[in-house]
Amino acid sequence: MLKVGILGGGQLGRMLLQAAANYVAETFVLENDAQCPAAHLCHHFIKGDIKDFETVYHFGKQLDAITIEIEAVNVEALERLESEGVKVYPSPSVIKMIKNKVTQKEFYKNNHIPSPAFIITQNSSEINNHIDFLPAVHKIGMGGYDGKGVQVIRNADAITKGFDAPAVLEKLVDIKKEIAVIVAMNDKKEKTVYPATEMIFDPVLNLLDYQVSPADLDEKVLQDATVIALQLAEKLDSPGLFAIEMFVDKNNTVLVNETAPRVHNSGHHTIEANFCSQYDMLWRIMLGYPLGNTDAILPSSIVNLIGEEGFSGPAKYEGMDEVLKMKNVFVHLYGKTQTKPGRKMGHATVMSNDRKKLIEQVKKIKSTLNVCS
Ligand code: ADP
Repeated sequence: MLKVGILGGGQLGRMLLQAAANYVAETFVLENDAQCPAAHLCHHFIKGDIKDFETVYHFGKQLDAITIEIEAVNVEALERLESEGVKVYPSPSVIKMIKNKVTQKEFYKNNHIPSPAFIITQNSSEINNHIDFLPAVHKIGMGGYDGKGVQVIRNADAITKGFDAPAVLEKLVDIKKEIAVIVAMNDKKEKTVYPATEMIFDPVLNLLDYQVSPADLDEKVLQDATVIALQLAEKLDSPGLFAIEMFVDKNNTVLVNETAPRVHNSGHHTIEANFCSQYDMLWRIMLGYPLGNTDAILPSSIVNLIGEEGFSGPAKYEGMDEVLKMKNVFVHLYGKTQTKPGRKMGHATVMSNDRKKLIEQVKKIKSTLNVCS
């Protein structure tokens, strides 16, 4: 039986392990929090720091294959493991390149992958040398996530907001839509692409409101996004699963924003709404099976279940009965016992042939299901 390890035990690791139940593999998880969402679903839980060289190396040494659910891992240990024959999905060199937005942007440029124009800066005062380049978005090279390492700089007066660390100053895109395309590649370099997913943001909270897949795009835009995803996989030249976040601008130009070299939130719906889920796909890749069918079974939407403001403590899910009565609604809870404001506790997937109905159901779930304590 192949021994496969996952670095990180969050909700993505949890869903990866749920899909593993359909295969024969001995599963291992490394994570510092023994109460993490994936801890009770693997064969072997090892408590430890995924950023520490020795911990990751010793964890990986006993395995046939290893993957990640987050990029913030010790890449040097993965490089050593790879050189000693452990299969790493994706290859450590790709994780290293993607972890730093500076090298990630350079990669797109060097490989002719369309992405917004950029300038590399070492500190915020350097932005003063590029007033003509504004409006732009300043993005910290290392350590930013969920928009926390991103500052919009519209004009010279706003330069006080930049980062005093290596960063990229990227042209502000006039965004029409934000989409994500998941592409998968196996050891034989065979590739397959999932239908694009559209992210709809709440304009007031500036947070993801819900996702719809397949995205509602013109044929040409869809084709461009698919071609870019396949080209990027080709250039990355690594087996694994990659979620590529893209912008469609007001001229219908498709530009790559960033890539996650792993299973991704934008692919949660694939569990019910596509013939082969992204999680299933990664197991097929790691275990050497043929790639699966990425086609959508029905259009779907995802809504995140977030801890309500004003509630901290043991989680209670109000309105669950009503939501579970809805047709084609699937609720996924991440097994987190404690809620706090803004904490991602789960998600719900809705499926329907009628796109209008999808959105109505998303709104109903949002107003009905509340995570309190
Ligand atoms: P993170 O990695 O923290 O999620 P992103 O690079 O994805 O950061 O940026 C977060 C959000 O900021 C994007 O989803 C998008 O809405 C906005 N954004 C990022 N880059 C640009 C850009 N060049 N032009 C316009 N908006 C952008």
